[in-house]
Amino acid sequence: MTARKTTLHEDRFDTKGVTIAFTAPTPQDPTLAWACADHPDPDLFHPTDDADLAAARAICAGCPVRELCLELGLRRDEYGVWGGVLLENGQPRSGVPRKGRPPKVGSAA
Ligand code: SF4
Repeated sequence: MTARKTTLHEDRFDTKGVTIAFTAPTPQDPTLAWACADHPDPDLFHPTDDADLAAARAICAGCPVRELCLELGLRRDEYGVWGGVLLENGQPRSGVPRKGRPPKVGSAA
C-alpha cells in the first residue's frame, strides 16, 4: 500500500445561517499521508462485520492523521470508520450493527 500525500486546507460551509470552518486533509500536502488512501478495499472502512471493523481499526492505529480524521468524522456527522472509531451519523458505535430484526426486549422465551 502506498500512502497518498495529503495537505491541510481550510474547509468551510454554511448551514442554517452558521459558517462552519475547519481544516481537512486533502491529497496534495507532502507532509501528511492517509494510511487508507490507496487501500484496495475502501469498503473496509464501512464494515459489515467485526472482522472488517478490526482490520480497519488496525490500519487507523498507525495513521498519522488519525486524530484529525476522527475530529472530521464527528463534526461532519459521518458514517463508517474515522480515526479508528466506527461512527453512525457522527456518533461512535461500539460495534457493527447486527443484521435482521433486533431481539425482543423483555419477552419471555
Ligand atoms: S485514521 Fe483511518 S480512516 Fe482516517 S485517514 Fe487514517 S487510515 Fe483513513
